[in-house]
Amino acid sequence: MQGAQFEFRHVCKNYESQTALNDVCFRMMCGEHLAIIGPSGCGKSTTLRLLAGLEAPSAGEILMDGNVVSEANRILKPPHLRGIGMVFQDLALWPNLTVIDNVLLGLSGERLPKYEARKRATQALSLCGIQALAFRKPGTISGGEQQRVALARALAMRPNFLLLDEPFSGLDLVTKTKLLREISGLAADRKLTIILVSHDPVEATVMCRSAIVLAEGRVEESGVLTELLKAPRSEMLKVFCEY
Ligand code: ADP
Repeated sequence: MQGAQFEFRHVCKNYESQTALNDVCFRMMCGEHLAIIGPSGCGKSTTLRLLAGLEAPSAGEILMDGNVVSEANRILKPPHLRGIGMVFQDLALWPNLTVIDNVLLGLSGERLPKYEARKRATQALSLCGIQALAFRKPGTISGGEQQRVALARALAMRPNFLLLDEPFSGLDLVTKTKLLREISGLAADRKLTIILVSHDPVEATVMCRSAIVLAEGRVEESGVLTELLKAPRSEMLKVFCEY
């Protein structure tokens, strides 16, 4: 049987007296699209930061392709070697740079020859359908187009994983659903593994087959998202299904 691409083994994360994650276990296979669902403060972003290697767990282990990449208070594989692209809610686009320069800036750590970096940036823009906006500044394009720039910046790095931390929360339902569908299609073509953080389980079904539901730093339930929604056990999904 093929091994998990990513695995959390009994992961805990404490910030001084605050427990953000408590004995979290889950695994993801290559090409899987997983939603991490839960209310504010339940530990979703902390999970992503630990996956990305931006922080170390306080206890437990994180594995990539069967190898331990983080353990208690130690990061063994740094973020730039994990093959991860991230898109956050705060898109962190530089307002004074053009769209293509924002994407190029994302590639600056890769030490690519200039022509190669430009080629990759242009390909990523075209993949995200915004090549025509290459020389515009972020302030002159729509919210949905800005999301595409952030996505292009992440994809230009040719990641194996895409971490999406509620990146579409500021968008209208139609634009958001369209983007989620498009990214799913792109990801399927490239066998990209995706983790989508969301507080909206129904929105998450557009992109993700499976989900884990967090509450107060613990996994409350996990499995196929549509099945979880049919017979919710966690407070979060129960409340959602009542409406
Ligand atoms: P979510 O993304 O689900 O809203 P977070 O992962 O951001 O939740 O936070 C989980 C818990 O950990 C919260 O109680 C939050 O206040 C706490 N927390 C997160 N980051 C820090 C930090 N750097 N310092 C102290 N507490 C933190």
